[in-house]
Amino acid sequence: MAAGGMDVPGAATDRIDSPGAAVGGVATGGTAAGRMATGGVDAPGAADTLAGHAVAAAALRDDLAAHAARKDAEDPLRAKRAEFVLDEAVYLDGNSLGALPHAVPERVREVIAREWGELRIRSWSESGWWTAPERIGDRIAPLLGAAPGQVVVGDSTSINVFKALVAAVRMANETGPAAGGVPRDEILVDAATFPTDGYIARSAARLTGCTLRPVEAARMPVEASERTAAALVNHVDYRSGRINDLPGITAALHEAGALTVWDLCHSAGALPVDLDAYGVDLAVGCTYKYLNGGPGAPAYLYIRAEHQPRFDSPLPGWNSHADPFGMDAEYVPAPGVERGRVGTPDILSLLALEAALEVWEGVAIEDVRAKSLALTDFFLECVRAYVPRGRVRSVTPERHDERGSQVALECAGAAEVMGELIRHGVIGDFRHPDVLRFGFTPLYTSFADAERAARTLAEILAYVPGDGSASAVAAGGPEEGPVTV
Ligand SMILES: *Cc1c(COP(=O)(O)O)cnc(C)c1O
Repeated sequence: MAAGGMDVPGAATDRIDSPGAAVGGVATGGTAAGRMATGGVDAPGAADTLAGHAVAAAALRDDLAAHAARKDAEDPLRAKRAEFVLDEAVYLDGNSLGALPHAVPERVREVIAREWGELRIRSWSESGWWTAPERIGDRIAPLLGAAPGQVVVGDSTSINVFKALVAAVRMANETGPAAGGVPRDEILVDAATFPTDGYIARSAARLTGCTLRPVEAARMPVEASERTAAALVNHVDYRSGRINDLPGITAALHEAGALTVWDLCHSAGALPVDLDAYGVDLAVGCTYKYLNGGPGAPAYLYIRAEHQPRFDSPLPGWNSHADPFGMDAEYVPAPGVERGRVGTPDILSLLALEAALEVWEGVAIEDVRAKSLALTDFFLECVRAYVPRGRVRSVTPERHDERGSQVALECAGAAEVMGELIRHGVIGDFRHPDVLRFGFTPLYTSFADAERAARTLAEILAYVPGDGSASAVAAGGPEEGPVTV
């Protein structure tokens, strides 16, 4: 794994010649407009044409910058940005690793010095360590549209996918064969899934005697049958940013007698999810993206209340026991969502996450969603205004009800272009083979950020050839770029 740190120090310091480096991202200087004009459609032949273009470009830029300033001033979430540690870089990778909330370092210091250093083992009860997975789950629950008692935090998303999927197949078959039907021996997996879900699903299928069938999410309602035990679907596609129809797919799977497992990694914290309302059976997600829990922060598992008595974990560790300290040889699962736990929780990361979640105090997810859509709309508007025609193509849906909180642009030479963007203080990421991915985290991304990112992109495209042949790759290649998930 390449250092995810590449985007932190490198980006901010190496921007001397950045055309977008004007403090605060507000438009200044004439070179940017000049370069933009030469990168445009017309050959820079006649000087007056060129000058005309430059003037028009500068006016356009001033216009969009003013527009951004106005939107930032009206933004009901604008005060939230101050709760994060940020620098002058435009950070559009919060869908990969959320920025650090200011509250976290002090809290972690206190946990280490006082709870661990002084109270030591007493902290399991006195500092609430033992119950942290459920307590923090309840803190995340409102962002998932879940009533308390259904979310438990711990382990990675990959591990929770495994628990949820095997448990789903087991639950589906409790009623299947017993009702005289054929066994439900098929798992559907989102054909475009984030790879780890696919790998884990394949193993879960082997272990449960199922076949694994990759199916496009939109086709799941017609592909599900009486053989289907469960479907594993990504709520928002990590690459394109497309939202899959959670209510419709869940309802169709239920119609077929199957269960759904939703992966919320790219939706929770960016848009309303409403698990309870739509009858979702099981869900998982990570906390280091839009929830800002920090690198490797523990993931969460949602087990719908009515399924909890039947949830049969394939990893029934002692933390999921009804009486963990009874040290009984016999396994008896805990009655509630605790049965989603496995072993001793990662307390330092858990409590860092808990502190990070304080930024959600007083935040309505509807406001987050409204700003997310406004930001991505505005970014696309700026891209259309600044970037020469034909150089990029958005693979993120235009329709609001299909768009998550990112914009993915197909672009020849995307690896080089992203390397240059990072070098110029605009941190997005590159997805193989040709996608520039820009994540918008409404708690701290501003409209000025969106304008500066689009403008910097246009400036870079003016000197990186469209055939991707440029050798102007910043240190390393795409494989050594920031770790992005
Ligand atoms: C980020 C992401 C993961 C990450 O899984 P880990 O086990 O935390 O590494 C899994 N699934 C999806 C859809 C993701 O976007």
